[in-house]
Amino acid sequence: MAGAGLRADESLRRYASFRIGGPADLLLIPPSVEAISLAFSTAVQLGIPVTRLGGGTNLLISDAGVRGLVVRLGRAFDYREWGESQSDEPAKAGKVTVRTGAASSLGRFVSEAVELGWGGIEFAAGIPGTVGGGALMNAGAFGGELSSTIIGAEGVTMTGDVVRLDRSQLDFSYRRLELDVDVMITSVSFSLRRASVERLKGVVESVQAKRKRKQPSGYPNAGSIFKNPSGNYAGKLIEQAGLRGTVVGNARISPDHGNFIVNLGGAKAADVRALMHLVQEGVWQKCGIWLEPEVKLVGEWNEASAVPS
Ligand SMILES: Cc1cc2nc3c(=O)[nH]c(=O)nc-3n(C[C@H](O)[C@H](O)[C@H](O)COP(=O)(O)OP(=O)(O)OC[C@H]3O[C@@H](n4cnc5c(N)ncnc54)[C@H](O)[C@@H]3O)c2cc1C
Repeated sequence: MAGAGLRADESLRRYASFRIGGPADLLLIPPSVEAISLAFSTAVQLGIPVTRLGGGTNLLISDAGVRGLVVRLGRAFDYREWGESQSDEPAKAGKVTVRTGAASSLGRFVSEAVELGWGGIEFAAGIPGTVGGGALMNAGAFGGELSSTIIGAEGVTMTGDVVRLDRSQLDFSYRRLELDVDVMITSVSFSLRRASVERLKGVVESVQAKRKRKQPSGYPNAGSIFKNPSGNYAGKLIEQAGLRGTVVGNARISPDHGNFIVNLGGAKAADVRALMHLVQEGVWQKCGIWLEPEVKLVGEWNEASAVPS
């Protein structure tokens, strides 16, 4: 399997959309489910911590990097298996099940579904990252969330057991999937419904246009930094606190959208983290709301508040 393998002291910057982050002691790009299982069971025996990466589009990786083993799925987990359209069963008329490798690009999966006339995930056009990361984050936009179409997943537990999870075991909430045991998701199954290709393409065009209008482009970033508090928008609160455009080091709160922090070039994770603290304090002082990070902090941090992924 080209690209698969184990690399020592590998810089993680290129694996993160922020283009920020120190090295992993060990980075594994596994060629198979069996290889993940062996790696996880060995890591448990040796007491080596394990960190899971997807497409790296929702991560802030620390400048010190990540100790232990980092696992990122590669080409072996980029596939789609389309089931038969189940139109002979009245309750399932016009539906299809598709099993998707967790490393598949979410964007490519959406495009493929739209071309084939299968609807339900078109709202996700333009969300970067992988299907596995999207499931773990319950990625969503413009009123849709992946959880509305996910019917199951497969994965490997941190002790190396291969598991199949049905929908009742997947506890989704806003930008979150809670599982009884931690797993590296290896595939996700979706149920999609028949829809007109033209209508689906119309939705994709409209969500892409909204993205273009609302999201800053040109500098590396990790999308929304904070979750929207119930009934409010993090971006609006950050603007109200007068923080748009604030710069620390080489990172800046976007002047166009308060909930985006951009890497102006050579930014450190510490610069972004300092801006995140400024935002949390500033919004708290001004609006009495404590913003919760949406972006996941990965690696070693010299602070009590950092939450490892
Ligand atoms: C420009 C831009 C726009 C964005 N717009 C949106 C948006 O509209 N809506 C939205 O919801 N998000 C958005 N995001 C954030 C991000 O794209 C999503 O959260 C995405 O689903 C993350 O997927 P990923 O593969 O990059 O995961 P990563 O960022 O690599 O990981 C995210 C989390 O999932 C875990 N994880 C990843 N893969 C696996 C796996 N296979 N098994 C177990 N755990 C795993 C990681 O450990 C981490 O905790 C945007 C980001 C950018 C840069």
